[in-house]
Amino acid sequence: MWSKLETRLKQRRAQDMMRHRLTLESGQDTEISIAGEHFINFSSNDYLGLASHPKLSEATQKAVQRYGSGSGASHLVVGHSEEHHRLEEELAEFLGVERALLFSSGFMANYGVLSSLFDRKDLLVQDKLNHASLIDGGRACEAKMLRYAHNDMDSLERQLKHKVETKMIVTDGVFSMDGDVAPIPEILALSSTYKAQLMVDDAHGFGVLGASGKGTLEHFGLEQKHADIYMATLGKSVGGYGAFVAGKAVLIESLVQFARSYIYTTAIPPAVAAANRAGLALIQSEPERRQQLKDNIAYFKQLADEKGLPLLPSDTAIQPVLLGTNERAVAVSNSLREKGLLVVAIRPPTVPENSARLRITLTSNHRKTHIEQLVEAISTI
Ligand SMILES: *Cc1c(COP(=O)(O)O)cnc(C)c1O
Repeated sequence: MWSKLETRLKQRRAQDMMRHRLTLESGQDTEISIAGEHFINFSSNDYLGLASHPKLSEATQKAVQRYGSGSGASHLVVGHSEEHHRLEEELAEFLGVERALLFSSGFMANYGVLSSLFDRKDLLVQDKLNHASLIDGGRACEAKMLRYAHNDMDSLERQLKHKVETKMIVTDGVFSMDGDVAPIPEILALSSTYKAQLMVDDAHGFGVLGASGKGTLEHFGLEQKHADIYMATLGKSVGGYGAFVAGKAVLIESLVQFARSYIYTTAIPPAVAAANRAGLALIQSEPERRQQLKDNIAYFKQLADEKGLPLLPSDTAIQPVLLGTNERAVAVSNSLREKGLLVVAIRPPTVPENSARLRITLTSNHRKTHIEQLVEAISTI
């Protein structure tokens, strides 16, 4: 076993595909500190700048005083606290759905939904660029799984022609490595023609898209109920940790009863649920954060355009600069780091071969000067 692993690692190193962790000495913010050096951070998913917001820290501290640090058990045993329960109620109310269910992570939420609700009579039809957790969840169940070319409605239509009991179209709302948005109105038109249902993973849309931050459906002026299964994470725009699934009561109760990644895991600490509640409250009370983010995205795109950077067609906070080879992406990322700018290179297998890229993420807390520095630095490399 060990020599096999050594060989795999050697191959990975040879392909410029080794991944390394950075160890932060500061909180998650637009400016971070790593190994005694300061960087402007363009790699977090903290889109609304809430991860180190004092209101979330206060809520965490208050909850720690009351509940301590650990939840001590799974939700179905004795780990489900009032903080968890209120958070679920607040999420359901915010989205206008019957119920919401908290999961310990987005990966576990997607895995739990797909692995527990479908059987061999069913069909899952997934976008090629869906998040790894959706693909793994689909692989773990008995349903047949087909993929369609990214955001390609002709390709989706071909996959929907199969005659089966339940057809579930599964898509990211905002694609995590490309930043483009799924064409939900067109997907819904197909789903109605072919009697399919829809699951949306809105990890990068919730809190950010739509006038009130309800995400990708609101972005298109659609009601939330058009997504039969709606999933989003709490560790990105919300500034906390965990994830939830929202929809009809029958969906949620089925997950409580059958989703193994819900049942057999420890609940997130109550204090983390409290931080999530504070983040959700700020998403509702401070819409100016979304406006600030929008302004930053527009400013970045304008400057990048002027410098002719190879951007992908994205209007969201995720702005990839396509560089092609792993070597090139890593080299540019390293030169940026020398200039005090942190932009992580994303390489295969996270993205397709020869599409290595810088994945720039903007937040509402970036200042104009940060963005100017970034674009200037990339264009001179
Ligand atoms: C981050 C992410 C997840 C996983 O969520 P975690 O809470 O980090 O496990 C799922 N889907 C998408 C699209 C994501 O970007």
